[in-house]
Amino acid sequence: MISYPVSFVALPIGNREDITRRALTVLEEADCVCCEDTRNTGRLLAHYGIRKPLLSLHEHNERERSVEIAVRAEAGEKFAVVTDAGMPGVSDPGYRLIRALQERGVNYTVLPGPCALVTALVGSGLPSDSFFFGGFLPVKKGKRRSMLEGAVQASHTSIFYESPFRIAATLSELAEIGPETPTCVARELTKLHECYHRGSASELSAAFSTQKHKGEMVLLIGGTNALAKGGGVCYTAEHDTGSSA
Ligand code: SAM
Repeated sequence: MISYPVSFVALPIGNREDITRRALTVLEEADCVCCEDTRNTGRLLAHYGIRKPLLSLHEHNERERSVEIAVRAEAGEKFAVVTDAGMPGVSDPGYRLIRALQERGVNYTVLPGPCALVTALVGSGLPSDSFFFGGFLPVKKGKRRSMLEGAVQASHTSIFYESPFRIAATLSELAEIGPETPTCVARELTKLHECYHRGSASELSAAFSTQKHKGEMVLLIGGTNALAKGGGVCYTAEHDTGSSA
């Protein structure tokens, strides 16, 4: 296997079985693993029987740490870069480190693997041929509203990461803007209580206002393409996949 000075490694988003053989080999062969939370990652690596020096890399130190990692990689140390879950760089640290490596001409690779937005998009049943990913929905009211309006008017599917504390308010706002909009909340993906809540924006808003739903979630909003493809008709159910994480 080709060995790179720095490898970005996707980790499971809930089910520890979702790790590739290549990811395990790269983690085993690294001199140091860069991660957001050393305790979290230490526990996960221990589950796979891997013990490595850990170096914290998070949104508050990414700028300085990126230069340090690039310099140490240039000097011959081998790094694996992970985040708490999923693909590094997707609403997670990674992008600044990639830029620092590019600037210094340090070779790197990205190992494909779990990512919540892609998993949610495919499982939602909304058109997946064309989509927009907006990261975490803005907390500020005005910005959030214009993102939701844009999503309702768009021809493609829009995907956002959203907090369980805000989801009911967000769905209620979405229902105000476009009550018939085909919508999905993909929750606890790959975990024991994985569930796709599907419906029109107003149906989901009603469901989430009467019952609190916990856990990690992705909000997917069908655009005009979903309505044209009849997305609104089949969007009437909650679908618990009963995954055995
Ligand atoms: N890098 C990660 C990825 O590749 O998906 C995303 C990290 S971001 C900080 C965390 C957000 O991703 C959560 O707040 C949630 O919106 C979404 N997420 C992560 N794991 C999830 C899961 N198992 N089910 C649903 N959403 C998840």
